[in-house]
Amino acid sequence: MAFNLWHNALELFDNVSKKINLDEVAHKRLSKCVRELTVSIPVKLDNGGFEVFTGYRVQHNIHRGPSKGGIRFHPDVTLDEVKALAMLMTWKCAVVGIPYGGAKGGVICDPAKMSIGEIEKLARRYTSEIITIIGPEKDIPAPDMNTNPQVMAWIMDTYSMDKGYVVPGVVTGKPISIGGSQGREEATGRGVMYTTLNTLKHFNMDIEHTSVVIQGYGNVGKATAELLYKEGCKIVGVGDVYGSICNPHGLDITKLSKHWADTGSVIKYKDADSVENKDLLELECDVLIPAALEGQIREDNAEKIKAKIIIEAANGPVTPGADNILRQKNICVVPDILANAGGVTVSYFEWVQGLQSYFWSKREVNLKLRDIITKAFYDVLAISEKENVDMRMASYMLAVGRVAEAVKIRGLYP
Ligand code: NAD
Repeated sequence: MAFNLWHNALELFDNVSKKINLDEVAHKRLSKCVRELTVSIPVKLDNGGFEVFTGYRVQHNIHRGPSKGGIRFHPDVTLDEVKALAMLMTWKCAVVGIPYGGAKGGVICDPAKMSIGEIEKLARRYTSEIITIIGPEKDIPAPDMNTNPQVMAWIMDTYSMDKGYVVPGVVTGKPISIGGSQGREEATGRGVMYTTLNTLKHFNMDIEHTSVVIQGYGNVGKATAELLYKEGCKIVGVGDVYGSICNPHGLDITKLSKHWADTGSVIKYKDADSVENKDLLELECDVLIPAALEGQIREDNAEKIKAKIIIEAANGPVTPGADNILRQKNICVVPDILANAGGVTVSYFEWVQGLQSYFWSKREVNLKLRDIITKAFYDVLAISEKENVDMRMASYMLAVGRVAEAVKIRGLYP
């Protein structure tokens, strides 16, 4: 059978349900998404032509609060993918204890082939088509693949024009000038950094003697590299879509980021050797941080991984088959729903600030983020040790348990 993210998500949910003896009602309800909206989005093209795009907004769960999740513009978007990602958001929000359910949105389109004007028209009409189900108390979108603060600004403007007043809380990931939060841009990388430091502390590993390899030098990977470098870790390898580099003595990340800003890639940085992208993951190191794509550590390369710890900064970088191999090799995998939850946590802060029209300093944002990520880490660790399960299973047990409790206590309407 072809790979289907939704079937995968359901299988994982079923396994966790068995492990925590989830009652049948909660299991049946959480196996479905509460709302799946498919919309047609007509757009006049610059060349005088006309296209009708298909878009989705799916809300998996709204028992613990309004739903939350990004919007992606991509040619490969499918309803099943959006459903799976919405479910993942439910668990991610629950594991860090922020009061949201999960949602996701997507439009089947190729932004690389569209003008800025066409993308704006698409974003605005999509917003208009889903306007009845989004809102600060209902469902709050955010950026995802190929959407950014500018797209969020158009969504916020379209929604606000419809209401007749400014509604900053309808989206997060907005530019600061219209109610975005300090620290949002680097929040996911910062969360990854806190998670890495918590993990090192747990294993009594000294930060200064810890070597780290990071795959991906984009929003998440670059921030993670810069922050871990600042904390004293030795970053011995990094890579992006164009290639990878390594230096066993440690890369100077300040200089590397300057090189990246000048050239758009980490390759050709002078104080490093180049390595094949596939070999980067297999370098000698203490901590491996995949921060690029899903499915990077698979059954065919898991055996060759030398790291002691893997921190999943990307969503789904380790396949279920690889997970089994890594467990046998005694490699600790800190799962995505815990490790990369810094982004949605600061999105939550942005929403709270917008609702109160009272904005926090960057220091305040970062301290609150550290508290939430650290508490979640130790909550998961306690379950992992008590139940003798890995960190992924422990994260899901915590998350599904929290959502199931909300389902049970709210009961059934009517
Ligand atoms: P990005 O587009 O900013 O960066 C992606 C990086 O991966 C780039 O450096 C790119 O060159 C590199 N890359 C792409 N293909 C590659 C390949 N085949 N081999 C090696 N490197 C490759 O994306 P991002 O926002 O940093 O997201 C990275 C991952 O983190 C994704 O899985 C995303 O879902 C996840 N994530 C992001 C956020 C966020 O706030 N941005 C939050 C949670 C999870």
